[in-house]
Amino acid sequence: MRYFPAFMAVEGQRVVIVGDGELATQKLRLLARTAAEIALVARRPAPALRDLVARSGARLIEAAFEPAHLAGARLVFAASEDEAERRTVAAAATAAGAPVNAVDLPDASSFITPAIVDRSPLVVAIGTEGAAPMLARALRARIESWLPEGMGRVARLAGDLRERAHARIVDPEARRRFWTDLFDGRWRRALLAGDAHGADAAFDRALAAADVSQNAGVGRVVLVGAGPGDPDLLTVKAFQALQEADVIVADGLVPEAILDRARRDARRIRVGKTGYGVSTDQRMINRLLVTEAEAGRLVVRLKGGDPFVFGRAAEELAALAEAGVPVDVVPGVTAALACAAAAKLPVTQRGHIRQFSLLTGAAKDGGLPSDLDWASLARPGHAFAIYMGVHAAPAFAKRLLEAGAAPSLAAVVVENGGRDGERVIATTLNDLGDAVAARGVVGPAIIYVGLDWAAAGLQRPPSVEVYPSVSHAWRARDFAYGLYWTAG
Ligand code: SAH
Repeated sequence: MRYFPAFMAVEGQRVVIVGDGELATQKLRLLARTAAEIALVARRPAPALRDLVARSGARLIEAAFEPAHLAGARLVFAASEDEAERRTVAAAATAAGAPVNAVDLPDASSFITPAIVDRSPLVVAIGTEGAAPMLARALRARIESWLPEGMGRVARLAGDLRERAHARIVDPEARRRFWTDLFDGRWRRALLAGDAHGADAAFDRALAAADVSQNAGVGRVVLVGAGPGDPDLLTVKAFQALQEADVIVADGLVPEAILDRARRDARRIRVGKTGYGVSTDQRMINRLLVTEAEAGRLVVRLKGGDPFVFGRAAEELAALAEAGVPVDVVPGVTAALACAAAAKLPVTQRGHIRQFSLLTGAAKDGGLPSDLDWASLARPGHAFAIYMGVHAAPAFAKRLLEAGAAPSLAAVVVENGGRDGERVIATTLNDLGDAVAARGVVGPAIIYVGLDWAAAGLQRPPSVEVYPSVSHAWRARDFAYGLYWTAG
């Protein structure tokens, strides 16, 4: 951020606007909505400006600008039609130590004005640091249409009720939950619908509920699936949980871009593995979740993909149940489905792939899982996605071939599906191990076996890498034709 957004107190403060034409009129129209004491310095105010001055109660100083006009100014707007005069005013304001906005002269200004949606006391300010004012305006139009007119009333009433609520609810966590509850729920809806009676009832109910939760003192854990890594693939519920969290316990796979969507003052704790790095002991994670919840906090346990798919969720659920901590679960887009979407590769195919399994390619001891049903996996019509299978890919393929799978069986590797560095490689079971090594697959990857675009009647997307490369395959085929013709 090159500019820091802040709301400046202007009630009863002197704000000076200098200018006598259209630019000054625009600034006065904006400032007239505030509770500031406005002084307009204008040598020959245009009729529209004079009108607006009368209606807004601003003070008109009909004179040529002098630095003395800026005495005691909290804010200065240099809005003359003449650029040289705007610069003179800006320089005088700077010399006087007053923040100044010179219209269309960012280099001479110490602040710029945002696009504003005014539902006072609720105010939304949108800025682009001057880079794209039209974008700010377009966004403002959207927010205008999205924020009901009555939202200002909701905010004002919340201000009025604040003291009453805070006298009853002392615990900060309980307070935050209470307000979240009010703003998300019945109270806000009743107010917007003009149902004052319903709003009062909802407020009293929320107060009573807050009393209960404050005395119980036990927090909650929400197991949340973060999806493959693209923040836009978070579910709305996951997003809401992140917005409410007091503490976030996140896996290594969850990128910062997702944590950026969380409540700013939520405490963030990283656990688990990053790639093949050191892993946090699972018992320690369980203990952490229990301790944080017992302190009355809302704990979001954030896992890549879906929390119930290769996420060790059962161990955490058991530990929380034993401690009597309430748990909710928010599903996420699991890697096998996110990667299929990235590769535009359907995982079931009518009349062709009727069974689709999710497997892990890694066993506890770091070798191949010993308890897989290889004969079933090798059977046609059964496709599967291998999680954590990059290391074991060659051994996995070998074992499948031994169980009778065809060497030409399609295999597709999707690395970093649905996140930065996404890559799709198409190969065969025979070449799978070489493909992973030759193409340097290191990020989290899903390996599909038995899935192919052609079999589904689809074109392979052009961005897919093919291993071995196409020209190589062509040469092999030319060679085979050559043999055929020679023999013929
Ligand atoms: N709970 C997660 C899986 C955790 S196991 C889920 O539902 O997706 C970790 C494995 O998931 C990785 O080794 C990799 O195989 C896979 N994975 C997770 N995110 C991925 C991504 N964005 N792209 C490809 N594979 C991913």
